[in-house]
Amino acid sequence: MISLHGLTKVFPGGVHALDDIRLTIADGEFFALLGPSGCGKTTLLRTIAGLETPTAGRVHIDDADVTTLPPGQRDLAMVFQDYAIFPHMDVTANIAYPLRIRKVPRRERAAKAADVAARLSLTELLRRRPAELSGGQQQRVALARAIACHPTAFLFDEPLSNLDARLRLEARTFLKRLQRELAVTTVFVTHDQAEALALADRIAVMSAGRMIQIGTPADIFHRPATTFVAAFIGSTPMNLLPARHTPTALHVAGATLPLPPPLAALDTPGDLTYGVRPEYMDLSATERPDAFPGTISVMENLGTHTLVTLETPRALIQLVVPEGDEPPLGTPAWAVPRRALLYHGDTLLTTL
Ligand code: ATP
Repeated sequence: MISLHGLTKVFPGGVHALDDIRLTIADGEFFALLGPSGCGKTTLLRTIAGLETPTAGRVHIDDADVTTLPPGQRDLAMVFQDYAIFPHMDVTANIAYPLRIRKVPRRERAAKAADVAARLSLTELLRRRPAELSGGQQQRVALARAIACHPTAFLFDEPLSNLDARLRLEARTFLKRLQRELAVTTVFVTHDQAEALALADRIAVMSAGRMIQIGTPADIFHRPATTFVAAFIGSTPMNLLPARHTPTALHVAGATLPLPPPLAALDTPGDLTYGVRPEYMDLSATERPDAFPGTISVMENLGTHTLVTLETPRALIQLVVPEGDEPPLGTPAWAVPRRALLYHGDTLLTTL
């Protein structure tokens, strides 16, 4: 279990990389830190590892306060984006390296390296050097080296980002299965929302050194707590449309929608934003009052689906339709929302 108590990191020059982070990661949990570049993910991981000293706050591993403990005494294994495997050592020596540092006898080291290599399908490659391996194989060697130490936790900093798209998907599935098998607490940094959704038990979405939302992938996807999270999550971005309400209805982009159950925030001033994912709308060829009226202006092929852009007088609305159901370009159409979210200012009010 890793718990962070009010972690703050201010770099010289005044950059607040971490701002009062409070979080407990459970034993065996796969936890993703997700956010745009510069939001503090790597700094947080390095602070857990002991490679950065926090300006304020404490890091606990299980029941011990490790805030002042050097990295080597924290029993954590870190895998970086660039793998950092030794070019002059073969695969066996690379995997066994942490065991050599711990003065494990040679015979035991070789047996352990062979065992871990077998788990990661590296047996055929044990005598090769990194230059003779593909990117995916090098990445597996880095993972094998991390596993060989039997750490309390894995800390991964974008470990898949150097792989091409197909290999990355394979490595993702592999990593998920491995983590399930080993049940080792894992903290995984990524800026790729699909990766975080696919891998994690829980995700923390970060922005400017703060945790904006912590939740399961389903929570984060279906109930994004702020418009920032709503815009960040989803392979096609959520439509965020200005909304206005009367005592009886909600008016959004030419549609008149039923007003949600009484909400106190609706009586206080503040802009409303209506969020709807492209996947949660249907297209109608006939007019209806509860739909967004517009003209089909762009179509993008997504393979099994098509991303359709509907040009309305006030906004561009994107929705996904199954391949073959696309209306002709330039024709009028109505987008009917099935599932949506209502924000007051920046904050989620309710799901609709
Ligand atoms: P990326 O996805 O681009 O790696 P990140 O979310 O991991 O970004 P960090 O690397 O943690 O972000 O950086 C957070 C902030 O702290 C950034 O504004 C960065 O410029 C700043 N920063 C990081 N390391 C240092 C340092 N050693 N000295 C000064 N500022 C730093």
